[in-house]
Amino acid sequence: MTDNVIELRGVSRRYDSGPPALADVSLTVAAGEAVAILGPSGSGKSTLLNLVAGLDKPDDGEVLVAGQRVDTLGEAGAAKYRRRTIGMVFQFFNLLDDLTVFDNVVLPSQLAGAGRADARRRATDLLTNLDIARYAQTYPGRLSGGQRQRVAVARALMNRPALLLADEPTGALDSASGADVSRLLSELHADGQTIVLVTHDPALAESCATRTVEIVDGRITADTAVGAAR
Ligand code: ADP
Ligand code: MG
Repeated sequence: MTDNVIELRGVSRRYDSGPPALADVSLTVAAGEAVAILGPSGSGKSTLLNLVAGLDKPDDGEVLVAGQRVDTLGEAGAAKYRRRTIGMVFQFFNLLDDLTVFDNVVLPSQLAGAGRADARRRATDLLTNLDIARYAQTYPGRLSGGQRQRVAVARALMNRPALLLADEPTGALDSASGADVSRLLSELHADGQTIVLVTHDPALAESCATRTVEIVDGRITADTAVGAAR
């Protein structure tokens, strides 16, 4: 037993056409780290996150998260694993537009079968902490991109995930909203949240990661402690 939150051991993912999306990638992420995955478009960053999230399966290798084999889970097991262990934030928010902000945030806990009163309390706390309580009864369509991403982060944190995954979380935001989301991720890291985020944006990596991992053509080409190179 280790306290690594993520262990990828010799992971490869191939599609029918083209070179492998990931080729023999090994990577460990310890509890409390904030890791930014950098690399050009098409280099395998989203593939890596999807494997960690149990949304996709490797052709070779092993994926362990919080001590659990993820690559061998069936569909129901993977869904349960995601509800309990993972919070995910996406470039385009992926909120449900016909639910209020509050109902979007509380949903993961309802799916996990938590008690209603506890769930409502947790959602209220998160909305307050993330400074979006005033939008609780608003529909996401009426919010700005930055506000929507705050809601998505609140939803991702609802079940107290061991691991927060974010795929280009500032990719659809203007620079002020991007800086706001970056600050939010930094605060979560300071509170001990383990985070892996994928980004094109070196400024985002600088400001909220303790470590950057670069991927080119499905292989890790650099793995650097932030600050070490300066
Ligand atoms: P990134 O997130 O770094 O932009 P991806 O992980 O999305 O890159 O993609 C890595 C490679 O795998 C790319 O060459 C992409 O075209 C390919 N790829 C990703 N998903 C699929 C898929 N569903 N079918 C075929 N090829 C895919
Ligand atoms: Mg991607």
